[in-house]
Parts: sequence; structure tokens; C-alpha cells
Amino acid sequence: MGHKVYISFKTEDAAYKDAIQAMPHLDYVDKSLNEPINSQDPDYVLSRIRADYLNDSTVTIFLIGSYSAENLGAAEQYYIKKELQASLYNSAQSTKNGILGVVLPSAEEAIYGGTYTCVTCGGSHNLVRVNDSTCIREFSYNYYIPNSKCSHAEEDRYCVLVRWADFAKEPNLWIEKAFDKRTEPISSKTKVRP
Ligand SMILES: [Zn+2]
Repeated sequence: MGHKVYISFKTEDAAYKDAIQAMPHLDYVDKSLNEPINSQDPDYVLSRIRADYLNDSTVTIFLIGSYSAENLGAAEQYYIKKELQASLYNSAQSTKNGILGVVLPSAEEAIYGGTYTCVTCGGSHNLVRVNDSTCIREFSYNYYIPNSKCSHAEEDRYCVLVRWADFAKEPNLWIEKAFDKRTEPISSKTKVRP
């Protein structure tokens, strides 16, 4: 048995959530936040979401489709933003989750842009458009955690990113990668409300 996962998704992408839940050898929390928690205290809200929804999950799978962008507005993205914030939040009862972003086929073209030649180092980097046009900021900030390098290596990112097709082949391998980030040095650089 692997690590228990929580799946954060837009209703438009619910079919992929169902497909993950049908995968064998996967332990998941079958809950999603569908009512706002009424409180003015943001820490209280996040600890409630952790306790009532994320439960004892240690990895959050964030499904990135064509409705996951920051640019669609805070009201439209209320639930997925709160779910990722609560996932990144260290409460008295539990530490933050690993975050695995799964790029659905509908978002592949927008996100993966091939390679480019870097003007700083002259090397070749992958163009991965994890930004406000494709993802909420809770994901993009913790994927591209700011640093002074010309590109982000694997150890410079807290969030893990994978295409749906690769994830579906070896789900537990990718869940494990996200789980391991929790204890890596980059884990101290994450932001709950970027
Ligand atoms: Zn470079």
C-alpha cells in the first residue's frame, strides 16, 4: 500500500478523478471540499480543511486541465486554492502534503513548449509554462520557487509535475516522488498563500 492521496480537481475534470480512484493499489481520501468554511480567520479555515477533508493524506494530486488557471479569478478557483493551501499548511496535527501536479491532455499543449536555448548559460532548457495562464499560484509558486539560477532543477521545485499518460502508467512512482519532497531541503521554501 502506498501513501494516502487527496485529489484536488475542477468539476470539468471529474472523469480523471474517477479514473485515479479506479486504479489498483491506490489509497485515497474520497472527499472534496464543496462548501466554503465560514470564518474570517484564515489559519482556522486551513486547519479545518486539513482535519475535515485532507484527513490523513500525505500527498495531494492536483489535476491540471484547461480550467485550472489563476487568471480565471479567485472566486472561480476558491476550492482548489483552499485545497492546495491546506495541503501546504503545517498544522499542529499534521505536516504539509507533497504536491503532484498531473497535466491532463487538455492542458498539455499550453504547458509543454519544447526546449529553448538559454541566454544566460547557453544551455538548453525545457519550456514548461506553469504560470497564471495555466495554474493557480499555489501550484506555480511552489513549482518555480524563486531563486537566482537561470533555470529550475528538480531539487529547486517542491511540486512535482507529470503528464497524465506517464502518471497513469506508474501512479505509485509519481506519488512517491511527491511524498519524498516533504523531507527534502526545498520543503522549507514553500509558501501557503503566494
Ligand atoms: Zn540557463
